[in-house]
Amino acid sequence: MNVGVPRETAAGERRVALVPDTVKRLVAAGIDVVVESGAGAEASHPDAAYADAGATIGDPWSAEVVAAVRRPDADRLRDGLVLIGFLRPLDDPDGLEVLRARGVTAFALESIPRTTRAQAMDALSSQSTVGGYKAVLLAAGRLPRFFPMLMTAAGTVPPAKVLVLGAGVAGLQAIATARRLGALVSGFDVRPAVREQVESLGATFLDLGVVGEETEGGYARELSAEEQARQQAALEERLPDFDVVITTALVPGRPAPRLVPASAVERMRPGSVIVDLASEAGGNCELTRPGEVAEAHGVTIVGLTNLPGTMPTDASRLLSRNVQALLLHLAPEGELVLDFDDEITAGACVVRPKEVAA
Ligand code: NAD
Repeated sequence: MNVGVPRETAAGERRVALVPDTVKRLVAAGIDVVVESGAGAEASHPDAAYADAGATIGDPWSAEVVAAVRRPDADRLRDGLVLIGFLRPLDDPDGLEVLRARGVTAFALESIPRTTRAQAMDALSSQSTVGGYKAVLLAAGRLPRFFPMLMTAAGTVPPAKVLVLGAGVAGLQAIATARRLGALVSGFDVRPAVREQVESLGATFLDLGVVGEETEGGYARELSAEEQARQQAALEERLPDFDVVITTALVPGRPAPRLVPASAVERMRPGSVIVDLASEAGGNCELTRPGEVAEAHGVTIVGLTNLPGTMPTDASRLLSRNVQALLLHLAPEGELVLDFDDEITAGACVVRPKEVAA
């Protein structure tokens, strides 16, 4: 099998799907890798590092498999290509249609089952870890206060109070990071199982009187309109206590749940910061502007998207290990064998080859 690694073309996308360290492992497993010149440059990996790892620098598009971060431009795609990447299967059906029309077999990193066997391939988790960490740094950078408590000759500074809404992978990482910076942290999630995880990180579980359910896949069920209204009202009461609110709540395939209405932002103290990690899915806060930093009633609302892309070196390091695991799963002996009876292969494949789809 040979694998092509293109240079990403989407604005602000600085990650690369495979880094030299993993290229070396793939080459050792008998897989050829062709890297487009400059593909790793923004993630701190020059062409020479790929060449040293055993890759060829050249045209990645003639390879059997292309490993990309995002869906490549349509004119790059050819019939029979196998594509791996973040392909947004649930919220970009037109993008999948482009792949299908071009005869591409597509594996979406988002669709890899969240099972123990597939844990090494779980790119959603690895990138959420980066996003959760970076969200806290963005908040700390914009907050006109310290995070930790300080006792100085000039007086005592109380610690900042941070609330993390949604305690999945990104939320738990945000809680841990805010704790490391010395803030007093609270967390909330509708999945009842999360309370223990929040508390084990040294944070307090905020009781909002709303308890949701966990679906079979471990995700949250969408709240009913009545539950959502109760959640919003409870939050509106509690938000003025916090200096920083980091929101990470998502329900796969649905618009982000609206947790923080405009009226709740209005009640927050001036200088407070909201970082909305759900902004790409429409935002958990009514006043979030996706891709932008907004201000309302003296509150800063950070709606920047693709935070993993702002930490390309480590985000790519983790992503690359996920992609490596998927590649070795699809080609255990160094040759591609697509077994659609396998739950990982079948689950991740969002556009099947024509002969299998028929
Ligand atoms: P996600 O990104 O889909 O959602 C983030 C969080 O938002 C979730 O914890 C969800 O419960 C929460 N949420 C949804 N609606 C909410 C609301 N109205 N109010 C507050 N919170 C709300 O989730 P994720 O980070 O991808 O993780 C989902 C689950 O999958 C977790 O249980 C995680 O532990 C599990 N998981 C399992 C594996 C594995 O077994 N290999 C790997 C990764 C994650």
